[in-house]
Amino acid sequence: MDLSKAPYCEQDPQQNSQLVRSLNDGTNKASRGFKVKKTTFKITGSPDGLSVDSWRFQDWDYKKPNLPTYARGLFTTKNRHNDHEIAVRGYDKFFNVGEVFDTKWENIRRKTRGPYELTLKENGCIIFISGLEDGTLLVCSKHSTGDRSDVEVSHASAGERWVDKQLATIGKTREEFARELRGRNVTAVAELCDDDFEEHILAYGPDKAGLYLHGINVNIPEFMTYPSGLVQKFADEWGFRKVGLQVFDDIDTVKNFLEEVAESGAHEGRDVEGFVIRCGLASDVGQTKYIDWFFKYKFEEPYLMYRQWRECTKALIAGKPPKFKKHTKITEDYLLYARQRLAKDPKLAKLYNQNHGIISLRDDFLAHKNLKGSDAANFENVFGNDTSSVSDNVVLVPIATIGCGKTTVGIALTQLFGWGIIQNDNIQGKGRPARMVEAVLSSLMEHPVVIADRNNSERREREQIIKDVLMQHKNARLVALNFAHGNIDEVRRVTRERVLKRGDNHQTIQAASDENKVIGIMENFIHRFQPCDPESSPDYGFDFVIDLDPAQGSRVNVEKVVIELRKKYPLLIPDMPSAEDMDMAVKHAIEDYKPSIKHQIPDRTSKRDQKRQEIQQSHDPKKKKSLEYMSISVPAKEVNVALESAFKGVGAATQRFYKQLQQTRRIQPLFHVTLMHKASAKQYPELWQRYTTLEAESQSVDNKVGECEVMLERVVFDDRIMAIVVRLLDQEDTWTCVNKVAHITVGTRDDSVKPKESNDLLTRWLDVGSGGNTGIDRMMVSQGEGVIGVLEEEALVKQSKYWEYWWDAIVCVMQR
Ligand code: GDP
Ligand code: MG
Repeated sequence: MDLSKAPYCEQDPQQNSQLVRSLNDGTNKASRGFKVKKTTFKITGSPDGLSVDSWRFQDWDYKKPNLPTYARGLFTTKNRHNDHEIAVRGYDKFFNVGEVFDTKWENIRRKTRGPYELTLKENGCIIFISGLEDGTLLVCSKHSTGDRSDVEVSHASAGERWVDKQLATIGKTREEFARELRGRNVTAVAELCDDDFEEHILAYGPDKAGLYLHGINVNIPEFMTYPSGLVQKFADEWGFRKVGLQVFDDIDTVKNFLEEVAESGAHEGRDVEGFVIRCGLASDVGQTKYIDWFFKYKFEEPYLMYRQWRECTKALIAGKPPKFKKHTKITEDYLLYARQRLAKDPKLAKLYNQNHGIISLRDDFLAHKNLKGSDAANFENVFGNDTSSVSDNVVLVPIATIGCGKTTVGIALTQLFGWGIIQNDNIQGKGRPARMVEAVLSSLMEHPVVIADRNNSERREREQIIKDVLMQHKNARLVALNFAHGNIDEVRRVTRERVLKRGDNHQTIQAASDENKVIGIMENFIHRFQPCDPESSPDYGFDFVIDLDPAQGSRVNVEKVVIELRKKYPLLIPDMPSAEDMDMAVKHAIEDYKPSIKHQIPDRTSKRDQKRQEIQQSHDPKKKKSLEYMSISVPAKEVNVALESAFKGVGAATQRFYKQLQQTRRIQPLFHVTLMHKASAKQYPELWQRYTTLEAESQSVDNKVGECEVMLERVVFDDRIMAIVVRLLDQEDTWTCVNKVAHITVGTRDDSVKPKESNDLLTRWLDVGSGGNTGIDRMMVSQGEGVIGVLEEEALVKQSKYWEYWWDAIVCVMQR
């Protein structure tokens, strides 16, 4: 390869000023598309007193389309003509396989072309080197030059020392190097690997330390980079160390190679972190133009854990103590197993040392544990087993059936310690399990401990919450509150008694008929209950399990939870609450705690049964239940967020009714926009016909007959009722609302005010307006994008005081 044939492109001042302009826009706090942080550095030793601006994007913004550049690491400056110049240009941000659309294997296969250059992902910190107009050699880290006292600075100046060292060995000056880089209009990109300076995971002793040149980028906004052959050549010429390079022509060879290395975690006898793959990406549909493009393949769990096991096994064989910091519990278990196997079969050790049987030993262990490797790695907290310093990020996960006291114990704990609780029944819309986890994680930002109030009676539910939490929050610890079902008859008796006793207190309920339904649902849960087994998947993923006895009553259980948690995580509960405090907390939870009971829930035990019924009925049109009303259900989260932000920062008087609704739990848990009620069928016969037809023809299992975007416009309220005026963003006009003002009822003062009175409020509002002595207040809801609502046929929906239990049942069925 000939360096004189290297890619070249000169800078275009106009393009540069355009670039700087849009980068500057990005520094504006109100910037919508992306955000940039600009930092200016004066260059010490620059004869012209030059300074450079560093432009730093937020990592996640790189996933957005239409950025002015995707350079990660970008510095600009001004030259003598007062033109903007790119001083340093990093690589385009590149992603892991599977991390973004383009890096899914099928897209890589479809859109890229070889040669595929694989370089080892060196394990140090990145250093950029380039030449300024006045002959200064600029050496910087990703976002900083050597002139400030932060961490990156020390990287940059350590890099500078290495550059000096290597220039000295080839007898060149800084200025010569600067001129060379400037002449080529490039940035040299190197990895600083030096244990003396900073120890990374992989070892770089004195013989290996230095600057590893891995790329040379042309200083233009688009990404143009030297092929690796030229990079190596340049490295030789200028005294850099070189990174290992492997070139493959086709993508399947690349994939196989990477997966093989991943299996062993080692390459050429050396542990590696991963590979960067450089290739061409088709930039047009016809695949005639290709641009330089990188992706990476980083070894992640479970491979890192396997590597640890391999090293530990070798230590064991050598009679040395195995060292490990991560995956402590599972690694201990693995070693116990490995020790037994090694003792049983003396040949195994010898073979293992020759790298045979490594994989089968670990696979045998996983099979023995009934675990998949990825689960084993995910489940256990990677920060090891020392729980004495745990002071937050704890999720309490009940394993129970209805009436065991999950909510009571949970509420009592929130009362005692100010912890968070997320109730599954407050979550609605699509993808409930994932959104439950989302809510738990966001609550963890405000509370050290969050109770994930859900039955989790089946293993798959536990697996879901454990996996989803740990996937997104590696530091989290999950603790099971195991309401043991050993004595099933006793559990059945106690929970029924509690739940029905409570039901009887509600005069509106037809006790007998509802009772049977409730018992049916409860039985369903008991039937599906799968006991907790901390030794195997998925319960293995709990940090530990607190065994509770549902029959013992919530007071006893609360105390048990507190004592056990305190034992395990002393920092979490520094002071044991007094008996009286616990008495009070449980009393409050049982007596005062009232969930909002205005939920609307389908009057049935199982959606599947329902569907079956519907199918049967559809053969006999007379029997089919008629449509009651058509409405759009709107995700509660979005509505609540909109309300919160609308009321944030407004005067106390304006907030008063909203606060009242919140505190008295009168905010609807489910929100919908009513389009039309059966009652107006005479008035709008055609529309009603259309809706009933739509509903009748709908094949959907979950009652969904369509989707419609809903824009929340303003909140209107008096001292009795609150509604949000909405606009249906429905291009085709499929969904017509017959109410004068399409709206969502947020809540009413008490049961005497019916939600449909929103219509009266809004009519009055249209007539007399708001403010002054109208008694009506209104506010804009922050205008965001529309919220996607789901059209449901509500024929089978009715209200029930048992909504809580129904809801559990529905959620459960939906999850199947
Ligand atoms: P969950 O379905 O597991 O959330 O159970 P809850 O916490 O809602 O409890 C079911 C019912 O039993 C509620 O009405 C509670 O107020 C009541 N309850 C909970 N714990 C106790 C207890 O220790 N003693 C009595 N008598 N009632 C309880
Ligand atoms: Mg509950």
